[in-house]
Amino acid sequence: MSLIVQKFGGSSVADAPSIKRVAARIVETKKAGNDVVVTVSAMGDTTDDLLDLAHQVSGQPDSREMDMLLTTGERMSMSLLAMAIRDLGFDARSFTGSQAGMMTDAQHGRARIVDVTPTRVRAALDEGAIAIVAGFQGFNTDSRDITTLGRGGSDTTAVALAAVLGAEVCEIYTDVDGVFTADPRVVPRAQKLAAATYEEMLELAAAGAKVINIRAVEFARRHGVTLHVRSSFTQDVGTFISKEHGGEAVEEPIIAGVAGDTSEAKITVVGVPDIPGKAAEIFTIVAGAGANIDMIVQNVSVHEAGRTDISFTLPIEDGERTMQALEDAREESGFESLIYDDEIGRLSVVGAGMRTNAGVSAQLFTALSGAGINIEMISTSEIRISVIMRSDILPDAVRAVHRAFGLDGDVDATVYAGTGR
Ligand code: ADP
Ligand code: ASP
Ligand code: MG
Repeated sequence: MSLIVQKFGGSSVADAPSIKRVAARIVETKKAGNDVVVTVSAMGDTTDDLLDLAHQVSGQPDSREMDMLLTTGERMSMSLLAMAIRDLGFDARSFTGSQAGMMTDAQHGRARIVDVTPTRVRAALDEGAIAIVAGFQGFNTDSRDITTLGRGGSDTTAVALAAVLGAEVCEIYTDVDGVFTADPRVVPRAQKLAAATYEEMLELAAAGAKVINIRAVEFARRHGVTLHVRSSFTQDVGTFISKEHGGEAVEEPIIAGVAGDTSEAKITVVGVPDIPGKAAEIFTIVAGAGANIDMIVQNVSVHEAGRTDISFTLPIEDGERTMQALEDAREESGFESLIYDDEIGRLSVVGAGMRTNAGVSAQLFTALSGAGINIEMISTSEIRISVIMRSDILPDAVRAVHRAFGLDGDVDATVYAGTGR
């Protein structure tokens, strides 16, 4: 008997009829002779609504209490789903993250899994039940507190369970038919990928394609878990994510996809003394503020000879803290001023075949200039090129680049549900 882990995202369990539909689907898999472990997210936009609520009662909500609050979302959906399955005549048991043995470190809001001991999940399976595990949550044994894994963390819960339980596949059910060449909400003519490698999916996720969480992909790659991203609204086959594209005979596509991201901001440190050690000093301060920087550019200062301007991008949520840390060090470090800009957008093209294909950057820059788009920063990796531009033109730029690389399909992609929030 094989074991299948199925994860259902918020838009797949948004209301009572959806929960019943998902329950029926899970039962189908069980009836086909499989053991089934389910990971479920909070219903619809519940997590966002809870976050809004917290910010209405507190300017800076306490992180421990925030985790207590947010984990209630998944508790609602897991228990409702178990009830719906039981009504179909099958045994089902829901478990919180801690009951399922999801042990994490103590970092509230972004905890990392340190160990998974799903004793009760295994026992439920042994007794023929369907196990339902709350996504996105864990437990820290030192603080004895409940933690959350960060936004989109239910994907990681599912993959972690699939890894330790030795599942045949981890199915990620969502509101689109799979992983597309671009977000179908932005590019209607985006096409579904039959397959993607872990590497490509990691880059796409890092570039802003939120269809699957980056940490889940990392986990899957490390443990060799095959992922199948598909729609919970149809029976169609979705996108398989594994080590290879599907045998040596399949040539790697030059471009797997185009992604856009507006979750970063840019900080420019103006008038940095142009002497050795200054960049090290600045990035030590930035690292001390706990910011995860992405792109860096250094230019001759527009203001003064003998000085340089250093710009870098970082997640918007790290912006304020990093600006404060830099400002505190301004006099001692000797730079002139700081500029904060949170209206940037990052466009990325990703593809394993870029490794062996020169000319992708030329094609990208030609497409962007043809669309009248000004590039502010550029960075590249082996299989990705990213450019920074104004955020308001990002959707147009993604569509233009998608078209220029010949990725537009003949028909519009279907978005089944969700608000894209
Ligand atoms: P879930 O609630 O199931 O976790 P998410 O909203 O987190 O769903 O992720 C699914 C969404 O990801 C889709 O509705 C789509 O708008 C977005 N998305 C972004 N980039 C892509 C892509 N390349 N392929 C498919 N979906 C994408
Ligand atoms: N409910 C959580 C979120 O919205 C976790 C998840 O859906 O993966 O981020
Ligand atoms: Mg998600």
